[in-house]
Amino acid sequence: MSIDIVIREVGPRDGLQIERPLPTEAKLEFIDALVATGVPRIEVTSFVSPRAIPALADAEAVAAQLVQWPGVEFSALVAGLGGVRRALASGVTRLEYVVSASDGHSRANVGRTSAESVALIAPIADLVHEAGGELEVIVAIAFDCPFDGRTPPERVAEIAGRALASGADTLSVADTVGTATPVRTGDVLDRVRAVAPEVDLGIHLHNTRGQGLANAWAAYGHGVRRFDASTGGIGGCPFAPGASGNIATEELVYLFEDGGIRTGIDLDRTLAAAQLISRLLGRPADSNLLAAGGRLVPRPER
Ligand code: ZN
Repeated sequence: MSIDIVIREVGPRDGLQIERPLPTEAKLEFIDALVATGVPRIEVTSFVSPRAIPALADAEAVAAQLVQWPGVEFSALVAGLGGVRRALASGVTRLEYVVSASDGHSRANVGRTSAESVALIAPIADLVHEAGGELEVIVAIAFDCPFDGRTPPERVAEIAGRALASGADTLSVADTVGTATPVRTGDVLDRVRAVAPEVDLGIHLHNTRGQGLANAWAAYGHGVRRFDASTGGIGGCPFAPGASGNIATEELVYLFEDGGIRTGIDLDRTLAAAQLISRLLGRPADSNLLAAGGRLVPRPER
């Protein structure tokens, strides 16, 4: 089936990273339910310090099980060269490397300045490419920083240009703390597009202030065709005070499919996966669509 936009499910990574650690078996049950939705890409874990993110300390164990789902493109997040080596040794070659656009968040997140993180893109890209993999650079804190205030859009564009010059294959911009609004979303995307006209640009949105879906729709209008989302709207950054969940995959699917924009994702199965993760976490997921019970009226066959 051909699709019009690519949704990357980030629930097992962004969603679970601030939770008390789930057993690996429970994560695999969640991933299996996600695969059943038809989602084409899943970011399954991050290869970072287990002391910093105890919930994802089982990255190798999760990676070892991915061969059972050959139809899905799995990826993992990395924060430095050590994580890249661990990921590649585990057979995960599609990697997302995060660069914060602000020094305050960068220091809190990885103990480096933003410029120091930018300088690591080239050696990381070399390692990934030597292994036959692909590297996406995610420019985090692309709108506002809880420590440094408003992020200059020029800084986001500058990092995007540096990332491509340093060997990144794709780019995303991330509203890590969920402060963006649709007009600002479009503005930042246009500035990135100006320095990276050819790149397959993605966006990573949080619904912290209720703007997530509006921002996604704005991003679509500004040419974005790749979206991160987490089933059940779970998630948040442990080093960004006040951060909360990603936009919910089921709500993004509902939004786009209703407009005839194909995602390849089955809505009912996504709601089932959202129910599963609610059960595994022991609390209801943060999703209006799930609370409402899905579509009111079945969608006619097209
Ligand atoms: Zn996030």
